[in-house]
Amino acid sequence: MPNLLIENIHKRYGTLEVLKGVSLSAEPGDVISLIGSSGSGKSTILRCINFLEAPNSGRIVIKGEELKTRLDPKTGELVAVDKQQLKRLRTSLAMVFQHFNLWSHMTVLENITATPIHVQGMDKAQAIAKAELYLDKVGLSRDLAKQYPAFLSGGQQQRVAIARALALEPEVMLFDEPTSALDPERVGEVLRVMQNLAEEGRTMVVVTHEMSFARNVSSKVVYLHEGQIEEEGPPEEVLVSPRSPRLAQFLAAGG
Ligand code: ADP
Ligand code: MG
Repeated sequence: MPNLLIENIHKRYGTLEVLKGVSLSAEPGDVISLIGSSGSGKSTILRCINFLEAPNSGRIVIKGEELKTRLDPKTGELVAVDKQQLKRLRTSLAMVFQHFNLWSHMTVLENITATPIHVQGMDKAQAIAKAELYLDKVGLSRDLAKQYPAFLSGGQQQRVAIARALALEPEVMLFDEPTSALDPERVGEVLRVMQNLAEEGRTMVVVTHEMSFARNVSSKVVYLHEGQIEEEGPPEEVLVSPRSPRLAQFLAAGG
């Protein structure tokens, strides 16, 4: 059973059709790199997967459980029928954003423990103990736990965001250009953490321009063009001998 299945997702903004029927499946341990030009709809896919954006049609299935939706005839968008189910499925899909999106008024530790404690109902002491393990896992000193995000470098902030995502114990981790906002010398430390997660067998969907990551870490590469999947397959095929001339051109231009 796939950890994540999306089927025939359509998304329009007004008259602009951004996703024209996208289907994707991630088996346990799959690392899917989602590549494509700016504006091709990559972020919209991630946002539809965890229902930050309501698709106009399509199915979202997490570990065999389909998100229950109905079509709102007024907006033409899907709405979640069961708010509790939406909340539960959302916490099984942890998202890591380009701009970290840490809560600036909370310490590192509070950023990591807030959702486990307040949404998942975890015991506070247990949440703190786990947060310390996740800080270790992303290579951050436990001494940073009391700091506020603004005190940290971009690479450290993104690793906190990854620790926060891990603390949800998600079925699937969604990354939206996690290294694009970093200084070049900070990119490697975040990619190494992500590579470790991949090697642990975590299921990940990663929007990225880092072709070496896509090539060396992912199990599948998906190339999106104007809201449709133009080509997909193992990295050694898609990135080395692309069938689509458009993809070849995209890769030749540096991704
Ligand atoms: P990518 O992540 O591949 O760069 P996006 O998914 O962000 O692409 O955007 C795809 C298209 O959808 C773009 O044309 C963008 O302008 C448009 N778009 C994204 N979000 C919105 C929105 N909230 N309202 C209107 N148009 C949007
Ligand atoms: Mg984007």
